[in-house]
Amino acid sequence: MLSAKVTELLNQQINKEFYSAYLYLDFSNYYYDQGLDGFGNWYKIQAQEERDHAMLFIQYLQNNGAKIILDSIDKPDVPLENAKDVLTEGLKHEQFVTSLIHDIYDAAYSEKDFRTMQFLDWFVKEQGEEETNADNLVKKYELFGGDPKSLYMLDNELGGRVYSAPSLVL
Ligand code: MG
Repeated sequence: MLSAKVTELLNQQINKEFYSAYLYLDFSNYYYDQGLDGFGNWYKIQAQEERDHAMLFIQYLQNNGAKIILDSIDKPDVPLENAKDVLTEGLKHEQFVTSLIHDIYDAAYSEKDFRTMQFLDWFVKEQGEEETNADNLVKKYELFGGDPKSLYMLDNELGGRVYSAPSLVL
């Protein structure tokens, strides 16, 4: 049995992951609008990953007989000022999501909910990768974004990203 507190936090995380998917779709649409289709592709796949994360939280709650409550998803509220700032906002958002995962872990830890801690281990690792990827994008843009030829090549590189399902199976 999951505690009421852990169940509530896991339910909230479903919403946060769907919001992340929504936010990254907004990023993706912005880049497609700008003619940076590779960046658009990268964030479209990122949105698919966030949807997968939401589904994993749903599956975990179902596997443990917990009630799932779907709340309304906020509209994306990050200003899309320029290509570089969007990447910086992406990094900030991942750092925020890491803090949310850590908060759930903290609640599970204090209740000796080892099952939820083990489930969350994958997300703790995943957030490390997400922050690294987002940080790399910012750095690459700082290095290459100012030069049209370099930006074209970077956009091409990001266009090569392909979707793959999450490695966590529940
Ligand atoms: Mg996520």
